[in-house]
Amino acid sequence: MHDTLWFLFHNDKLILCQASEERLALPSVQQAEMLKSLVVGTIHRFALLEGGEAYAAAVQLDNTLPEGFVLMGLRDAYDYLPYLHYKYGGRAYELLYWDSHTRFCPVCGSPTQHLEAIMKKCPSCKHELYPPIATATIVLVRRGDEALLVRARNFRGSHYGLVAGFLEPGETLEECVAREVMEETGLRICNIRYFGNQPWPYPCGLMIGFTADYESGEIAIQAEELSTAAFFRRDNLPELPRKLSIARQLIEAWKRGDIA
Ligand SMILES: [Zn+2]
Repeated sequence: MHDTLWFLFHNDKLILCQASEERLALPSVQQAEMLKSLVVGTIHRFALLEGGEAYAAAVQLDNTLPEGFVLMGLRDAYDYLPYLHYKYGGRAYELLYWDSHTRFCPVCGSPTQHLEAIMKKCPSCKHELYPPIATATIVLVRRGDEALLVRARNFRGSHYGLVAGFLEPGETLEECVAREVMEETGLRICNIRYFGNQPWPYPCGLMIGFTADYESGEIAIQAEELSTAAFFRRDNLPELPRKLSIARQLIEAWKRGDIA
């Protein structure tokens, strides 16, 4: 039997049902029916690669949620939902974000028309709008048996992470990686290799992971972006990013010695 998943968001919070004292889950089809009267705007439908379908909609809650439901940010929902539900929750969120940010044509200001699942068109100037993807790179830099970890000023919490940044127009991904490492830490790197990628729906990113080796230079941090940058050994690691992130997957792969 194929799943039907319902992703109902109030602002940037997902509605989950309290399946038991400790267990949270997406609302069932019946529960989603109960909440449908709160939906504002379009109900988006998309197919699941594994079979089945999903619906995404925004709800407006005037007071509180009906009994038995809770609101939760998508990142936190990672700890409660099956991975596929978390992943498709990201897709649902990106669709809703795109929908709410493309009500008017950015060229001429006319109201847009929603013509296909992920295409809108301006009836006046014919400009077409698709969901934007903001591409960013993230890199684990090795120096001998150490890895470069940084603390960004915008990190929530006290963990360390990896150098990361947005792709700029006209850049290759490898150029982006080298530039970000140089800008943030003053280091030159080599052997930049693809590792993997991850949709990062906060709000519409794609994070592309790389590994690299230290080549030369002394650490000189970019103070507006970072508070610390240093090389760490496996046996002396600081607090790491959460398991849901590709940053953590890169660090775990390096810890296991899986990076060639
Ligand atoms: Zn227009």
